[in-house]
Amino acid sequence: MTAATIDGKVFAEGLRERVAAAVPDFQAATGRAPGLAVVLVGEDPASAVYVRSKGKATLAAGMESFEHRLDATTGQDDLLALIGRLNADEAVDGILVQLPLPPQIDEKAVLAAIDPDKDVDGFHVVNAGRLAVGEEGLVPCTPLGCLMLLKDRLGELSGLEAVVIGRSNIVGKPMAQLLLRESCTVTIAHSRTRDLPGVVRRADIVVAAVGRPEMVTGDWLKPGATVIDVGINRIAAGEGKTRLVGDVDFASAAAVAGAITPVPGGVGPMTIAVLLRNTVVAAFARAGLTAPAGL
Ligand code: NDP
Repeated sequence: MTAATIDGKVFAEGLRERVAAAVPDFQAATGRAPGLAVVLVGEDPASAVYVRSKGKATLAAGMESFEHRLDATTGQDDLLALIGRLNADEAVDGILVQLPLPPQIDEKAVLAAIDPDKDVDGFHVVNAGRLAVGEEGLVPCTPLGCLMLLKDRLGELSGLEAVVIGRSNIVGKPMAQLLLRESCTVTIAHSRTRDLPGVVRRADIVVAAVGRPEMVTGDWLKPGATVIDVGINRIAAGEGKTRLVGDVDFASAAAVAGAITPVPGGVGPMTIAVLLRNTVVAAFARAGLTAPAGL
């Protein structure tokens, strides 16, 4: 068997188009475009690249982008004061604080200070709680993007066996909650799981969010399984070069799976597209309007 490749780039482009199409409706109703504020503290080069691409994507979708770049030595009180101002700013529908934060800042306190209704990253405990009890709320972008790819590929997920490898608050746990909401039978595996290959072999759906290059191999998979590879790992490729690989060994997995996301080009492009989607959804909800279907 050779697995179908799940093209996250194409799906993400479609989602961005749907987001951009929703913006004029919002503007017509409220007189302004949805706004996303991104806060970067310090000069971490990878974070700076993410913030730049988020800002560009926000503008490309016809939305307002507010970038706040703070010095690496910024204190917690100053950052909390900025978040307070963004919470109160009617032009801001979404607030994203780029992680990681410098060591003098308490990440939990900062995330807790964001208005949950503007928490487009979905990391606030109120949104984690809403997801856990099945209430409407903002859901972390990467797992929501994975779910969109799964539903696009498989349609109905009810009754399927899903194994999520990884239990982080930003990927593994919300992914498991989303799959449970779709009535999958969900197993969460982690570093203490015994016989991980045996657990994975039960799964119709495998989501790997581990951070270990090419850990999941084809012989772990049930034939025909759908594999979502969240991992982004940079490995040596000889001659001083590097390349990106996922948590799944693509070649061996593709020989057994029914469908699989590549790295790059699978889950990665979904994250920013879902961030834009969350911003528009937050904007409609804050204005007391119903967001268009298909977002
Ligand atoms: P974390 O490091 O927070 O979590 C990793 C999880 O993997 C932990 O729950 C850990 O278990 C588990 N784990 C580690 N080693 C093993 C092992 N040998 N066997 C089974 N489980 C193991 O990572 P994140 O969730 O933040 O990210 C995971 C991956 O996804 C990374 O590669 C990251 O770069 C990528 N990522 C990609 C995004 C995208 O946009 N595509 C966005 C976010 C992340 P335990 O809890 O027991 O320690």
